[in-house]
Amino acid sequence: MQNRSIEPYLNCSFACDCGRTHKSLFAHYIFEAGAIAKLPLLLEQLGYTRPYLISDTHTHEIAGVMVEEILRKANISFTAHVLKSPENGDLAADEHALGSVAMANDKDADIIISVGTGTINDLGRYFSYITGRPFMLVATAPSMDGLVSGVAPLIFHNMKITFPAQEPLALICDPEIMVNAPLKMLAAGAADILGKYNCLLDWKLSHIVNDEYYCDTIAGIMRTAVDQTMESTKGLAVHEAKAVSVLTEALVLSGIAMDFSENSRPASGAEHHQSHYWEMQFLFDGTPAVLHGTKVGIGTVLVLELYNTLAQMEKPDFAAIRENVSGRPSVEEWEKEIRRCYRDGAEGIIALEQKAKKNDPEGLLHRLAVIEERWDEIRELAKTAPKAAEISHVLEEMGAAKIPADVGISREYVYDSIRYGKELRDRYTILQFMWDIDKLNEEADKLVEKYCQ
Ligand SMILES: [Zn+2]
Ligand SMILES: [Zn+2]
Repeated sequence: MQNRSIEPYLNCSFACDCGRTHKSLFAHYIFEAGAIAKLPLLLEQLGYTRPYLISDTHTHEIAGVMVEEILRKANISFTAHVLKSPENGDLAADEHALGSVAMANDKDADIIISVGTGTINDLGRYFSYITGRPFMLVATAPSMDGLVSGVAPLIFHNMKITFPAQEPLALICDPEIMVNAPLKMLAAGAADILGKYNCLLDWKLSHIVNDEYYCDTIAGIMRTAVDQTMESTKGLAVHEAKAVSVLTEALVLSGIAMDFSENSRPASGAEHHQSHYWEMQFLFDGTPAVLHGTKVGIGTVLVLELYNTLAQMEKPDFAAIRENVSGRPSVEEWEKEIRRCYRDGAEGIIALEQKAKKNDPEGLLHRLAVIEERWDEIRELAKTAPKAAEISHVLEEMGAAKIPADVGISREYVYDSIRYGKELRDRYTILQFMWDIDKLNEEADKLVEKYCQ
């Protein structure tokens, strides 16, 4: 087997220079020809005898049939449930699909195996968690960064909510299957990884402004994975095996990086907030879903543009910004905007702000003092950001969407996602930073002008 950079991080625990001990329990990463044929042996080694298999119409055809054949030949009894994929669009990971998984459940199964990547992975991981059983994943496409993850984003009452979930014991990838995934899925996986350029900048920015915990080792692991993916995008465009291997490894590493940091900081920043915001609007409007990574790619171009602007920005007049703090929109005006943007989800966003107090004058004035003092350092950080145009070009080369209109995201939604997408989570990013220095509205105007013609 080829020498892989992932090996040292499987099933590991180490004391890090950052002062913390990092752990990942994810142990079995099988990416090799005939990987699925190894499933019976792996189950035997781990002591499991009766899997409950979950797939959908597409993933069943791609890999589910093969998994069943192999288990049958090995005399391993199993229950298989194939969720019906809709005629157009993708199956949603919602209460309906979860109900179907629950109703077909084999209560005597001792392990749950999802055969699929996006929805099927999320459903299996969550169902394993709530029924207290271990979980494995047979992946069918390297399309998103949740291959190895301890949370599952599920849709409940038309809202996307992140639930705790069972991290997989093992990830099984047959390169033959992964390489033949549609280009749209390979490009989405790569775009999800390219978004990490921004995640890492946001994380460091918050470390500077808020003294948030930061780890150079974790950031370095992620940075290497992103750089390698960036070099592989031409290969992905032609379904090259090596490029798909690099991408899959980067997706797994981003899961491991989240295990290490014990949150999603290294893998989710402002670009993911843009993606989540648009996804919510799609759900409210009842429009067909767009692949997670595809939206993340578009969001990455927009937010990197903000870093590129910051790299060129003159030091603002902080005295004037402080003087104008009382002139910013009141809580009532802000809530009115949140109700307009977040519709049925507004109460959750308002409750989050009451807890997080991101926009309170006291916290703002404190951050402004730090930003003023460390302005040069912040600008130096911004200078390390890749150019938005470069990422846009790479997305284009893979045939991926690169501007909002490519996937039907309206100008209005982009304008709102830039100004209010930051309210989705209590996480400091370039969007909150631009709001802090009172430039967010102005930058939102410029971005919409440039990217939403
Ligand atoms: Zn560390
Ligand atoms: Zn992602």
